[in-house]
Amino acid sequence: MRKAVFPGSFDPLTLGHTDIIERALPLFDEIILAIGTNSDKKYMFSLEERLYFLKETFKEEPKIVVTTYSGLTVDFCKEQEAGFILRGLRNSKDLEFEKTIGQTNYLMSGIDTVFFINASGKSHISSTVVRDVRRHGGDYNFMVPDAVKNSKF
Ligand code: ADP
Repeated sequence: MRKAVFPGSFDPLTLGHTDIIERALPLFDEIILAIGTNSDKKYMFSLEERLYFLKETFKEEPKIVVTTYSGLTVDFCKEQEAGFILRGLRNSKDLEFEKTIGQTNYLMSGIDTVFFINASGKSHISSTVVRDVRRHGGDYNFMVPDAVKNSKF
C-alpha cells in the first residue's frame, strides 16, 4: 500500500493545500493529513477547529485519513508505515526551506518527500495571508474551502 503523510499546521486549511492534496491523490492509496502538535507556534484556530476543517473537507474521500502527531515527522511516518512525505511548493523561498528539511528527513530515515508545485493562480494563497485578512475583518473566502468559510468558529 502506497501511503504518504502530508504534515502541516493547516491554520487554516486553504485552497493551496487542497490543490496539492487533490493532485497527489492519484499517486497514493492513502494520504494521512497530519497536524503537528509540538510546535511553539501560536495558532489562530484551535486544534479542534483545524481538525474539523480537514475532516469536513475530505469527508467523501476514502483515501484520506486525518490525524495529529507529535515528535519527528519521520518517526510518525515509520509508525504509520508511510513511505513518503507530501509537501507543496509556491515559490523559490518554499523550495529553499523544504529542500533542507527534505534532505535531512531522507538522510535520517530513507523516507522521500514528494513535492507538488501549486496550480497556477494558487501561489498567492497562504494560511498566513488568510489569517492577516481575517484579523483585519477582510473577506478571505476566496482562499479557503467551504468548511472554513462556513465554519461556526
Ligand atoms: P507548515 O506550518 O508546516 O508550513 P502549512 O500548513 O503552512 O504548514 O503548509 C503545509 C504545506 O502546504 C507546505 O508544504 C506548504 O508549502 C504547502 N502549501 C501551503 N499553501 C500552499 C499553496 N498555496 N500552494 C502550494 N503549497 C502550499
